Amino acid sequence: MIPGPVEFEPEVMKALGRRTRSHVDPEFILQFGRALNSFKEVCEAPSAQPFIVSGSGTLAMEMAVANLIEPGDHVLVVNTGYFSDRMVKILERHGAHPVQLRAPLGDVPRIEEVESQLTSGSFKMMTLTHVDTSTGVLLPLEPLLALARRQGVLTLVDGVCATGAETFHMEEWGADVLVTASQKALGVPPGLALVLAGPHAMKAWRERESPVGSVYLDFAEWLPIMEAYAAGRASYFATPPVNHLAALDVSLSCLLNEGMEVRTWRHRQHALALRAAWRAMGLKAVPVGEDVMAHTLSALYLPEGLDASFAARVADEGVIVAGGLHPELRTRTFRVGHMNTVSASDVLATVGAIERALLRSGHVREAGTAVHAAQEHLSTIHGNLRGCNSAIPLTAPAFLRGQGGL
Ligand SMILES: *Cc1c(COP(=O)(O)O)cnc(C)c1O
Repeated sequence: MIPGPVEFEPEVMKALGRRTRSHVDPEFILQFGRALNSFKEVCEAPSAQPFIVSGSGTLAMEMAVANLIEPGDHVLVVNTGYFSDRMVKILERHGAHPVQLRAPLGDVPRIEEVESQLTSGSFKMMTLTHVDTSTGVLLPLEPLLALARRQGVLTLVDGVCATGAETFHMEEWGADVLVTASQKALGVPPGLALVLAGPHAMKAWRERESPVGSVYLDFAEWLPIMEAYAAGRASYFATPPVNHLAALDVSLSCLLNEGMEVRTWRHRQHALALRAAWRAMGLKAVPVGEDVMAHTLSALYLPEGLDASFAARVADEGVIVAGGLHPELRTRTFRVGHMNTVSASDVLATVGAIERALLRSGHVREAGTAVHAAQEHLSTIHGNLRGCNSAIPLTAPAFLRGQGGL
């Protein structure tokens, strides 16, 4: 129960473990093509161009920046934590001038502040972290994206800890670029960097004057490859991560099978059950209010008298949680990831383990109060809370039906 890598479906692991195919094998061409299409479906961005390469989320961030930023460009960074700091570092390395808009720890900047910043400078781009994994802060994206669109400023969304679990309508909300990785809510072991570039972003890339400062990251190298596989043909620039892409194909079919609306709802319900348990144990969340709390992870302050060894005590109770990540919070917080396959049973097991650890340290007096609080919320929910069930055969995505796919 950490915020990545998470637990993965057995079917996804099976796909990863199958014999490695050639990158020109017809079966692989089908899998890659379908994965590219499913990625657009998951993000609701039919007109966007996907790029999926070997790497991690950080590479996806750098790929977007390398292609869209030219030396001297001004960028507004809405800074909500550790991964916004990383974005600043990447932007600076590529010659941009980032201006940071920081909110107090656990909070997000007010929309008026963003608006006055956006109108005061000549920004080419604004970067936003959908969920910051160091603070558990969820940035309400929709109004900020609308604002940038009105100002003609490109938007880059870091969705690494959100894509596949938090509500995100890329095209409807007007986001220009989304970057994400495989090992969080997309449900595939670490190894894939994913970028979705909408029409405005692709136009900005085409109109750039200086060459992209990296061969491996250049859209120009990858665009023909992604277009070929999406059209059912093989093409080569650099060897694709064949097994990971086969696993991604299975995982994204799984997500779409569950349905994004159901899936985001499931993550929300589990987050609500966990919040009830945190309250019952007197654990304070880092985010300042429910409206800025992520549904993919919880960042919680350690009670007085407990230190960073708390995660190990919870592990002794049978559940793995994460320590703090943000420099200012590292020794004062712990984090619980609740993404992908997480079920109601996982929620209860996690709350139980944390409650037992707190009982043993004398920070909770009565056994079962937190489990009861979580259970109370879970029992008000009707419907499927199991997530994608590998035991149920996958159905082919709509675009492949009748084409002899899957
Ligand atoms: C995990 C994470 C990253 C970094 O991804 P890596 O795969 O570790 O490189 C970037 N941004 C956010 C919001 C993350 O949660």
